Amino acid sequence: MNQDIIKVIDKEFSIFITNKEIDASIEKMAQQINQDYKGKKPIFLVILNGAFMFAADLFKKLTIDCEISFVKLSSYHGTTTTGRVKSLIGLNESIAGRHIIVVEDIIDSGITMEHLLEELNSKYPTDIRIATLLFKPKAFQKDFAIEYIGIEIPNDFIVGYGLDYDGFARNLPDIYKLVK
Ligand code: 5GP
Ligand code: MG
Repeated sequence: MNQDIIKVIDKEFSIFITNKEIDASIEKMAQQINQDYKGKKPIFLVILNGAFMFAADLFKKLTIDCEISFVKLSSYHGTTTTGRVKSLIGLNESIAGRHIIVVEDIIDSGITMEHLLEELNSKYPTDIRIATLLFKPKAFQKDFAIEYIGIEIPNDFIVGYGLDYDGFARNLPDIYKLVK
């Protein structure tokens, strides 16, 4: 039985999306991907750390021929006016001429994903689509397409199911939101 209110470090969170609801949304997404990518042999690029749990559950539901690879975005302070720049690390295989599906836990402003798409596009993939478990439409500032969205949520800070607060709470099977 999941607890309705939990404490992570110094903050309280309340139950928001149950594992059952998460699973149903992933099932729907997987069926769509299975249809869209029949015979295409895509590579799933999982953005660590947050997307590891979503990726594992999604991958088990795929029936197409496909590969999976795990990458990370390293943050550093760049010299540009935008300040924070993230660069892709851990991509060892060539993605040239391949169908790419980027697997993310959550898209908020879209800034992270926009950087990533630029970097991936410079490596000549055939095409790139995005699969995100969660999406905050009211926070989104960009205009790239997000083909596969699990669940749309308001602008709350959430944890669980791979998502963390200061490194903790990734192990929770359900998703919780910050109690304001
Ligand atoms: P964006 O660049 O789209 O604004 O932010 C994307 C990243 O911010 C996500 O990959 C995630 O790491 C983090 N993030 C955004 N919203 C949340 C949230 O509600 N909870 C947690 N734990 N991380 C978030
Ligand atoms: Mg993430």
